[in-house]
This record gives sequence, structure tokens and C-alpha cells, in this order.
Amino acid sequence: QEAHAAQMEQTFIAIKPDGVQRGLISEIISRFERKGFKLVAIKVVVPSKEHAQKHYHDLKERPFFNGLCDFLSSGPVVAMVWEGEGVIKYGRKLIGATDPQKSEPGTIRGDLAVAIGGNVIHGSDGPETAKDEINLWFKPEEVVSYTSNAEKWIY
Ligand code: ADP
Ligand code: MG
Repeated sequence: QEAHAAQMEQTFIAIKPDGVQRGLISEIISRFERKGFKLVAIKVVVPSKEHAQKHYHDLKERPFFNGLCDFLSSGPVVAMVWEGEGVIKYGRKLIGATDPQKSEPGTIRGDLAVAIGGNVIHGSDGPETAKDEINLWFKPEEVVSYTSNAEKWIY
């Protein structure tokens, strides 16, 4: 009961332009919501190329970096913060492997994508990147704090 009173773990999740254009927003949100994670921030944005470069700065030496940043900034992205116990690691599990040819059925990429260039969703890969990405995409006041009635049944 007390465990969820304090600040719970948060992760940054984004539905990429391909996921938005393909009408997968509600499908993706449903999977996180039904699991029991809590949505604490959401907005639709077209990120600038500079913003995309900051978001993917860890990959700037990779050959696909420029194309990836062009892609992320090519249209609307649904940026979100999800909260819950183990949400960073388990969120990655819900998402599945980077290459949709290798992601398991049952995962978002396994069920909804076929190619690495169109893998529909981003999720932070650890506590540090989660913090950095939430700060890059959201102002502190855009991330809310609330108790849902379901929490006493989830935890
Ligand atoms: P993830 O999104 O699973 O965390 P990475 O952080 O390794 O994966 O890569 C970020 C994004 O870059 C991937 O989701 C994918 O869209 C793109 N990407 C990764 N590897 C490749 C590749 N070999 N070719 C093209 N795009 C890639
Ligand atoms: Mg990554």
C-alpha cells in the first residue's frame, strides 16, 4: 500500500510518425494502460530535426543517424511519460526487440511492424536515459501526479 505513495519509476515512450500515420495510437496506449501502467504526460508534437538529434544523440556515429532523425522529425509523434513499478524495463518488453523481424509475437513491434525503419515506437532503455528523455520532451509541469482508484488493486 505504501509502496506506490512515493514517486514511482517513470519512462519516456513515443509513438513514432509511422505509428501515428498508421492509426496505432490507441492500440499502443491500450497495451500500456491494460498492463497497469499509468499515463502521467502526453502530447502530440512534430519534433524539429535538432530535437530528434538530441533525442538520439547516443547514435550520432551510426550510419543511419541522419535518416533516423529526418524520420522522427517528419511528422507528428505522440510523446508520453508512463509510470509504474518496473516500467522502464517492462516497457521495453512490451515494445519488443529493435528489429521487428526479431521481436516476439505479443510485443508491439512483433505484432505491428515488419521493418527496422518503421518500428512504430520508442522506449527509454534505462533509468538515466528515461530521466534525460523525459526532461528533453516535457517541462516538469507537464508531468502530472495522481492516484488512480485501480492502484490499490494493481499493487
Ligand atoms: P531501440 O529503439 O530499440 O532502443 P536503438 O536505440 O538501438 O533501438 O535505435 C534507435 C532507433 O534507430 C531504432 O528504434 C530504429 O528506428 C533505428 N535503428 C536502429 N538500428 C538501425 C539500423 N541498423 N538501421 C536503420 N535504423 C536503425
Ligand atoms: Mg534506444
